[in-house]
Amino acid sequence: MAKLSDLIRPDVRARHAYQVADATGLLKLDAMENPFPLPAGLRAELGANLADALYNRYPDADPKGLKALLKSFMGVPDGSDLLLGNGSDEIIQIVAQALAQPGASLLSVEPAFVMFRLLAESCGLQYHGVPLQADFSLDLPAMLAAIERTQPAVIFLAMPNNPTGNLFAAEAVRTILQATPGLVVVDEAYYPFTDSSYLGWLPEYPNLLVMRTLSKLGLAGIRLGFLAGAPALLTELDKLRLPYNLSVATQVIASTVLSAPEALRQQVALLRAERTRLAEALVRLPAIQVFPSEANFLLVRVPDAPRAFDLLKQHGILIKNLNHAHTLLRGCLRITVGAPDENDRLIAALTLALADAG
Ligand SMILES: *Cc1c(COP(=O)(O)O)cnc(C)c1O
Repeated sequence: MAKLSDLIRPDVRARHAYQVADATGLLKLDAMENPFPLPAGLRAELGANLADALYNRYPDADPKGLKALLKSFMGVPDGSDLLLGNGSDEIIQIVAQALAQPGASLLSVEPAFVMFRLLAESCGLQYHGVPLQADFSLDLPAMLAAIERTQPAVIFLAMPNNPTGNLFAAEAVRTILQATPGLVVVDEAYYPFTDSSYLGWLPEYPNLLVMRTLSKLGLAGIRLGFLAGAPALLTELDKLRLPYNLSVATQVIASTVLSAPEALRQQVALLRAERTRLAEALVRLPAIQVFPSEANFLLVRVPDAPRAFDLLKQHGILIKNLNHAHTLLRGCLRITVGAPDENDRLIAALTLALADAG
């Protein structure tokens, strides 16, 4: 008799579950979270609004007020609509599902955000990843050759890129937008930490979609992301969205916090200053390379990344070891920028770890 697990698609059985490191008791500098809680006044207001919300009813399936708030808060140009997702991960999945015709493919760069590949494959799209150059800039000739060869239904580019932290040259992105027969999704998950954005390009390029999330801004726990772009395209994608994908609580929290955005703006300004301070402190350590970052994390290269990772963990600090993530990331660690005292702890522990390695 066949095993019940044989009912599961072979490619699914061959997969590994998405790994989330156990951070119990550790200082969590591994997941690009904002380290600051919301201020007390805003939390009190949230408490009141959440107490009044109706949990016996299904959530608003098309929250027009929240969309309008997001559009003005983010500066989405007139003429573009929004598709809201339970995190931007869900939006990547919707795009991949919608485009998964036989033979269709998703193109991205390597190293990039791993969900591009994972969701392409789980939705039945072929995945192609074009390696970045050693300094993590875009290899435009290789991208254009891959576009020509694979005719991708969609290209995903995160800017700033995760896990490298850099932006790609805008003129290279323009060339790609003009050369590709398909869609280009620019993933701006780290938009709070950079002054660059492609939202302003939406009216000019009908094949461009810009994706953002509230996660890195400071609301990773509520799961809210959006895709901005041409209404006709979003209307098609919206047919694959589950009807009640944003909970009542998510909608209440997002509306309350975005109506009083000053608190998050101050936190972001502090994190941007801390990014500079942390980079300047780390660059002074022996045998370390600190890559420039426009995001809320720093990518660094050290002589023995697994050892530095372990020593930091012994000091109660969890970061991300990327040593085996990609050949271009040999020796690399990704460190989320934390609160000032957290960054001090990281600097002290990494100083010890690298002195020890000396
Ligand atoms: C963190 C991250 C996301 C995930 O965002 P969610 O809205 O939390 O699902 C998307 N893209 C990139 C590049 C990220 O680093």
